[in-house]
Amino acid sequence: MTEPVRFRNFIAGKWVETGSKGTFENRNPADTRDVVGVFPSAGPEEVNEAVAAAKEEYQRWRLVPAPKRAEIIRHAGDLLAKHKEDISRQMTREMGKVLSETRGDTQEGIDTAYYAAGEGRRLFGDTVPCELPNKFGMSVRMPVGVCGMITPWNFPMAIPTWKIFPALVCGNTVVFKPATDTPATAVRFVEILLEAGLPEKAINIVCGSGGAVGNAIVDHPDVPVISFTGSTEVGKKIATRAGNTLKRVSLELGGKNAQIVMDDADLELAVDGALWGAFGTTGQRCTATSRLILHEKIHDKFVAMLVERAKGLKVGNGLDESVQVGPSVNESQRATVKQYVEIGQNEDKATLALGGKELTAGEYAHGWFFEPTIFVGVKPKMRIAQEEIFGPVLSVLKIGDLDEAVRVLNDTAYGLSSSIYTRDVNAAFRAMRDIEAGITYVNGPTIGAEVQLPFGGVKGTGNGHREASHTVLDTFTEWKSIYVDFSGKLQRAQIDVQAG
Ligand code: NAD
Repeated sequence: MTEPVRFRNFIAGKWVETGSKGTFENRNPADTRDVVGVFPSAGPEEVNEAVAAAKEEYQRWRLVPAPKRAEIIRHAGDLLAKHKEDISRQMTREMGKVLSETRGDTQEGIDTAYYAAGEGRRLFGDTVPCELPNKFGMSVRMPVGVCGMITPWNFPMAIPTWKIFPALVCGNTVVFKPATDTPATAVRFVEILLEAGLPEKAINIVCGSGGAVGNAIVDHPDVPVISFTGSTEVGKKIATRAGNTLKRVSLELGGKNAQIVMDDADLELAVDGALWGAFGTTGQRCTATSRLILHEKIHDKFVAMLVERAKGLKVGNGLDESVQVGPSVNESQRATVKQYVEIGQNEDKATLALGGKELTAGEYAHGWFFEPTIFVGVKPKMRIAQEEIFGPVLSVLKIGDLDEAVRVLNDTAYGLSSSIYTRDVNAAFRAMRDIEAGITYVNGPTIGAEVQLPFGGVKGTGNGHREASHTVLDTFTEWKSIYVDFSGKLQRAQIDVQAG
């Protein structure tokens, strides 16, 4: 096993090895004997220092022309591409998802860099006619200031880039707190930003717990924006706390996503989609398919096809290219999965069609592995059909027609991603209109978002903000309306008009 590496925070332009709350370890979830690194555990002191530096730098960075800021982000994208393989391998080692998926995660960071860099030459506002002569009106996007970025572990590169690249292009500076399960990827990302030429104090990374570092960022009066991705439970706490200082809070939270398969669907295609949606990333995606809503006419056949294919999935260490499903990210996540399987078995007649157990023998002995698991006979109100499990567990529900399918799909507290497999164009359009979710796929799985379309959800999945696309700019800019009167005299709007 490799010797543990000591990682550092980057605060106020300096790499800092010590943390006011000591240190924490990061271990490989596929083999917990492998220590990926030892990290400083920071607290409010470090947050104060980071915010002060970011605030100072903001006054310089906001005046750098946006196309110049964007050049640095484009260069960061080039560096991510250059180091893609190393970054992806380290990511698999620290959080377990298979290499092809960590490569996809890094690629999403690259795509986001290039997309965000393009905004450096757009950042469009409006010009509008004024009601008075010799007067000009326009609206422009202004940066907001120091942005607090709090991120989860399941997309350790993609999610930080979704937030940090556009925020920097807009002229903001950043204090970044990554999840304690994935700090190594986060530190690598910050190294890349610095190598790309970002001014040192524009980015600060403060590793540590949610309670110590996260709360200090959320409470800080000099941080006007919080961009948070994580669980609905923590998101609600952050929004409540941030209300005290009237911060802008963008929340991207949990999901309970469903795939509908109608009786006219291409079943082979729909099985491919369900397998990938449910068991890709070990089910640890906010967009993972955790409910499968099957038309009664194809239900039994589809379940048989799916179980057969799911049986063949290879579980193991994601660094092995032939593995398709990695471990849960940590002990507590696997315990949660186990607990939900027990809940499912004890609930109203749900039956295990596949899996349901921890994998602990042989090659699995030192990791947090769990069998791909399928429940059938699930009813819409059961907890396994309502609550986010975040593991390789799929709940299958049976419906009689499209109206019922949409009703069942909508019947949760969340609204992130959704999918329908059908060859009927009318059914597809009705589903697109009636499904309550931020994302709907037709004849594709619930996962697979692209950076040029808005990403986010409705109901308990968020608070109305969207990441990716140009919509992310609304989180990281303030609108300013500007009136230029070149008449050389006092002109009074509205009053003059009324006076004729
Ligand atoms: P989490 O909510 O436990 O933690 C997310 C981040 O918040 C971490 O950095 C954590 O340290 C920090 N945190 C924890 N308590 C905090 C507090 N009181 N104050 C401030 N920060 C605090 O989530 P997780 O387990 O890392 O990630 C999984 C969750 O994230 C799932 O619910 C998943 O659906 C969600 N997620 C959502 C999206 C999306 O875009 N909608 C994307 C990925 C993940």
